[in-house]
Amino acid sequence: MTDRFAPPPATGCRNTPVLKERGQHEVFCGLTGIVWLHRKMQDAFFLVVGSRTCAHLLQSAAGVMIFAEPRFATAILEETDLAGLADAQEELDRVVHELLARRPDIRQLFLVGSCPSEVIKLDLAKAAERLSAAHAPRVRVLNYSGSGIETTFTQGEDACLAAMVPVLPKTEARELLLVGALPDVVEEQALSLLDAIGVGPVRVLPAQTKDSEYGIGPNTVFALTQPFLGDTHAELTRRGARHIPAPMPFGEEGTTRFLEAIAAEFGIGPEVVARVTESPRARAREAVRKVAEPLWGKRVFFFPDSQLEIPLARFLARECGMEPVEVGTPFLHREIMGPELDLLPEGPRLSEGQDVDKQLARVREDRPDLTVCGLGLANPLEAEGLATKWAIELVFTPVHFYEQAADLASLFARPLRRSRALAFEEADT
Ligand code: SF4
Repeated sequence: MTDRFAPPPATGCRNTPVLKERGQHEVFCGLTGIVWLHRKMQDAFFLVVGSRTCAHLLQSAAGVMIFAEPRFATAILEETDLAGLADAQEELDRVVHELLARRPDIRQLFLVGSCPSEVIKLDLAKAAERLSAAHAPRVRVLNYSGSGIETTFTQGEDACLAAMVPVLPKTEARELLLVGALPDVVEEQALSLLDAIGVGPVRVLPAQTKDSEYGIGPNTVFALTQPFLGDTHAELTRRGARHIPAPMPFGEEGTTRFLEAIAAEFGIGPEVVARVTESPRARAREAVRKVAEPLWGKRVFFFPDSQLEIPLARFLARECGMEPVEVGTPFLHREIMGPELDLLPEGPRLSEGQDVDKQLARVREDRPDLTVCGLGLANPLEAEGLATKWAIELVFTPVHFYEQAADLASLFARPLRRSRALAFEEADT
């Protein structure tokens, strides 16, 4: 490791006791992931087996995308299905046959479970198996759950990628797998940095199309670009692949340490990473410096929502001068989060899971300068005079790697600038 950054704190947060919360939670469901996954996988179609509520959620989350050639839809479970009066499996077969006959461009079909399909215990795994057999080899049918009963909004991506791992072929090749659905422009930056460092061959999960897929095996090593991929991590490990523990590529430091960990796995020293990344690091540092001024010395509180909370708290503490007071996360995966916890300076309360009333009581007591939370909590907290940031924006905006570091800092700086402007306005009147 090079000495370009402040060294890891003498006491990080790896051994900090974690408050375990189990209670009411306020988050979007895993269907949300379809909005970014359908853009990445160009021959995939996501068929949500759900209610009109699910259809509305998808359409409003996807916004203008519904006017494009759609690659997602909802097979609506009617009241007769819910009452067990109709054979929902037969109906699903009919919908899928019609869809695939109409759309020869679809090569992968995901049947996505929802709250209603889970309540009536519709067996989508069985349906996927049956439909795969009927439509192979042209179309592969897989299933996963995006239900709000089981998942938070980023777990939809995890469940989708985890469903893909078992069907990938086997290989003995020594390859790096970059795991996580990054926006195309960010993925290109990552691949070009790894190529310049001398790491390869590099594959990505999810691949753009079924035909561009590759194998998994004992010589596959993988790096996660998103912290919420715990099930995918487990499936890859089951296939014999090995995880490269590293901080997430957020900010200058996170990105450099991420690249250094991968380079070390391929026998390449940090001096090579330093040489290759010198310009983008300098650009990222300067760009963050320009936008992060409102963040210096400010206190931030994270509600558990996206599972990005710990890496973001580390970025804000170490590169933007913020003081995290509470960092909540829906799940704390120790192996994935270990390198992040080592870098996060001791001090904040860590909590896992959600009990929204207790967390609201703590945020009111703490009165942080900035609260990162779900949409449902933001308005009431703003009304109480707390500046907020919607966690979901952090998933919809390109924020990984060097060129996006300043955009990431800006997402947090904006609400603070706005509340400062409002305070000035009020003082003037
Ligand atoms: S899956 Fe559940 S939480 Fe998500 S939109 Fe459908 S009913 Fe609502």
